[in-house]
Amino acid sequence: MAIKGKTAVVTGSTSGIGLGIAQALARAGCNVVMNGLGTEKDNEKAIADVRSHGVRVAFDPANMLRHNQIADMIAKAERDFGSVDILVNNAGIQHVAPVEEFPIEQWDAIIAINLSSAFHTVRAALPGMKKRKWGRIINICSAHSLRASPFKSAYVSAKHGLAGFTKAVALEVAELGITSNAISPGFVWTPLVEKQIPDLAKSENINEDQAKRKVLARQPTSRFVTVEQVAALAAFLASEEAASITGANYSIDGGWTAQ
Ligand code: NAD
Repeated sequence: MAIKGKTAVVTGSTSGIGLGIAQALARAGCNVVMNGLGTEKDNEKAIADVRSHGVRVAFDPANMLRHNQIADMIAKAERDFGSVDILVNNAGIQHVAPVEEFPIEQWDAIIAINLSSAFHTVRAALPGMKKRKWGRIINICSAHSLRASPFKSAYVSAKHGLAGFTKAVALEVAELGITSNAISPGFVWTPLVEKQIPDLAKSENINEDQAKRKVLARQPTSRFVTVEQVAALAAFLASEEAASITGANYSIDGGWTAQ
């Protein structure tokens, strides 16, 4: 895949899916600007993992809640690396509660991090992509960009919004060598999901295997999607070979949304 030497910015890449995507792009020869919250120790380990592929790696601590920090992150990446060619909007959070009890600050944070941050990164990165007539925008959505679940109103709204934003951007830049696509995973085995299993087992008075099966009830394969599978799809969408794929929303959900 001919993306060697390109520069990628991957938001929320210190953990889980974002880290997997940063690794896959580095393996393909891309320089990577990593981003995320988390402890310095965890971040350093993630950065060292990506750097082990022999590419240039930087870390930017921009908070996806702050549009000024997002704009600065893109500007700094362009200054230090010469371009932002691949932009992966991956940072995301979740909160589960009935609508009428949903904390307002959690609603605002989910919309800001899972949806608006992609507007801010794309807004900042597009002028450079247009100038170079090459760009890849990849938005990590979710099966919840296509289906709803109770108690996840903010997440479902943000992911549906992000899927729409992906298509609108794709149409605006279709003739300019820039693609905009979404990836919609089902349940992926990441620290985020792993941590929920003991809690679910405890609250439902079941063992951890039963808790995993309960989580997987919507996924016909009865298996978690892996980080590596999502990362491989992202690396393909970033490649030269994917130049004619734009405005698409790829499900990678073990058959969830086929139902
Ligand atoms: P994760 O918790 O392992 O990683 C989330 C990343 O986002 C971390 O690096 C974290 O530091 C970063 N982040 C959170 N808030 C941030 C902020 N304000 N500013 C900057 N960075 C911030 O989660 P994950 O499971 O890898 O999820 C990654 C993406 O994939 C999310 O958008 C999520 O909605 C989506 N997704 C996950 C699953 C799943 O089952 N794990 C399924 C579908 C979609």
